[in-house]
Amino acid sequence: MRMKIVNEITVKIKKKSAQSYIKGYPLLTKEALVTMPAMEEGTILRLVDESGRFLAKGYHGNQNKGIGWILTYDEKQTLNQAFFITLFEEAFAKRQVFFNDDATTAFRIFNGEGDGLGGLTIDYYDGFLVLQWYSHGIYQWKSTILAAIKTVITTRGIYEKRRFDAKGQYVESDDFLEGDTAPEPLIVKENGINYAVYLNDGAMTGIFLDQRDVRKTICDTYAAGRTVLNTFSYTGAFSVAAAFGGASHTTNVDVANRSIPKTREQFTVNELDPAAHTIMAEDVFQYFKYANRKALAFDMVILDPPSFARTKKTTFSVAKDYGKLLEESIAITNPNGIIVASTNYAGYGMDKFKQVVQEAFKNQGRKYRIVEQFTLPADFATRSSFKEGDYLKVLFLEVK
Ligand code: SAH
Repeated sequence: MRMKIVNEITVKIKKKSAQSYIKGYPLLTKEALVTMPAMEEGTILRLVDESGRFLAKGYHGNQNKGIGWILTYDEKQTLNQAFFITLFEEAFAKRQVFFNDDATTAFRIFNGEGDGLGGLTIDYYDGFLVLQWYSHGIYQWKSTILAAIKTVITTRGIYEKRRFDAKGQYVESDDFLEGDTAPEPLIVKENGINYAVYLNDGAMTGIFLDQRDVRKTICDTYAAGRTVLNTFSYTGAFSVAAAFGGASHTTNVDVANRSIPKTREQFTVNELDPAAHTIMAEDVFQYFKYANRKALAFDMVILDPPSFARTKKTTFSVAKDYGKLLEESIAITNPNGIIVASTNYAGYGMDKFKQVVQEAFKNQGRKYRIVEQFTLPADFATRSSFKEGDYLKVLFLEVK
């Protein structure tokens, strides 16, 4: 494979930022640079402090908050195939328990900066890989990175998602790269439950792998005998886990029409009868009104909205509206019921999220207890020097 020559330039880090890079902060920001030189994305950056002392090497790639990522603290390290091979070997070795587990065939094998290379994630779906590139910069290294991956792991086929247009949005494209194409749907397993996924169907595959532990806990501990309302239900993955755990009924609400056939399929591939469940295409805020009118109440309400969404009827943002969403949910949760409150909104830390929860219960005059708490699962490796990377916050709230 032909390799692209990518230039290396030296950039100076401001005195007040140098210390955080010495401590291992992996994100390169514009504010940290003394001056931002004109350079192409993908350029290798040799970072020095204001007195010219070597700090680290990174690369330039524009991605929402940063302009690149740190790669190594070894000045002599060149960014060749061998460098990436070492990274992938270490990362894949850390997932050995997942590779050895026949009951779980879909998981993350490389998690960006958590595994030493910001801007790239790799998910494993029963022998197929899905690479996600988060900047033009990292994409410049594609041929070297692909060659390195193939040295370390044998795959059935490889797909990619490019997530780097102006707003960091998914670039609509044919995502198949090489090898065999995956069946449509591809059936993966998670803790023994089947999930239908599509590797070449836009930005999302049908399952969010970071919620594995949450699905397992719903199934194993909280679903039995309960009626479940799953809002922002997408393919109904939480509902399938709940049904396996003995939920008496699930109601699935998502504004997207595609959710209906996709949710039916998730039940069907597990030999569960979708007709035994309620699956509807509806704005959740409209649904709450309907539930109030009909005096409906549930034993479990699941809330896992996107950070931001605009529909014909409403604009939702976690930052503004999570409290309202919780209050609507509290109002239709039976005593001793469970609310599963989840968000991947990067602007909230766990503490802030807990405050929003507390406020909502206070406004509704109901008491609660936090019975479970989750952040990212083990395969979504994060590092302590970069707390922002651990974006997932999930609370199980027992409503009194
Ligand atoms: N909880 C899901 C993932 C949710 S993805 C899971 O675990 O698989 C976000 C979903 O929210 C999308 O399917 C989108 O269609 C839906 N959505 C966005 N705004 C909505 C709204 N106002 N009402 C209902 N669904 C909405």
